[in-house]
Amino acid sequence: MTSVIRDFSRLCLHTITTKPWSLSEAIAGYTKAGVVGITVWRSALAELGLAGSAQALRSSGLKVVSLCRGGFFPAGTAQGRQDAIDDNRRAVDEAAELGAPLIVLVCGAVPCMPLQEGRKQIADGIAAVLPYAEAAGVKLAIEPLHPMYADSRSAINTLGQANDVVEAIGNPALGVTVDVYHLWWDPDLEPQIRRAGESIFSFHISDWRTPTRDLLNDRTLMGQGCINIRQIRGWVEQAGFTGYNEVEIFSDEYWAGNQTEYVERIKAAYLSYA
Ligand code: ZN
Repeated sequence: MTSVIRDFSRLCLHTITTKPWSLSEAIAGYTKAGVVGITVWRSALAELGLAGSAQALRSSGLKVVSLCRGGFFPAGTAQGRQDAIDDNRRAVDEAAELGAPLIVLVCGAVPCMPLQEGRKQIADGIAAVLPYAEAAGVKLAIEPLHPMYADSRSAINTLGQANDVVEAIGNPALGVTVDVYHLWWDPDLEPQIRRAGESIFSFHISDWRTPTRDLLNDRTLMGQGCINIRQIRGWVEQAGFTGYNEVEIFSDEYWAGNQTEYVERIKAAYLSYA
């Protein structure tokens, strides 16, 4: 039986969840709401710049859980693949300066490239970036995406495929992110979570609205959809994960509303359904 969450000591919000807020507004809003952790999306760094963002985060007292996102390794040309590696090294520099211990990888896919080739290019790209990340003290996590994104966002669509890459590369600085939105449907999810074990570096939560109105921006609050989040959290914790529960909700509907009220709704849903 998975334990009920009673406080916000492991609650982390992704800046994309409150997309209308600038980074300064997110820092102020999260702090005021008693949120402990923040995962920073790279797009949120534009407002204050890298040094300014790092300074604001340091003085906020918020725990920077990860930087989102690296990846997008496959490309049709060698130059394209090298550009992706260079961009991921820049993300490592950013993470190091922000004090983020982890970069989450949305691994990428090229429309009409065979998925096997995409996965090979992803593994090659990760292998090329890992030594640089290790030297900076930054870990990398492969986030498998729902197969509806296999055309253009990720050729890694199950936790089993992510575990395969992690095992093949065999570096303790490489692990996986379990995102319930992407993985809840997978009949092998429980054994693959067990297999991932200590290589589970982060855990993302939201819910799957039925019917979904948009394949990208219609995630919903925990408890409003059909994912048994608490059960999956139980599997992840049984596998040894003790990190943050990161709320990552892309939602045109919620982005259109008052973000301060929305954060309070997230907190209530978190206690009741996560
Ligand atoms: Zn995620």
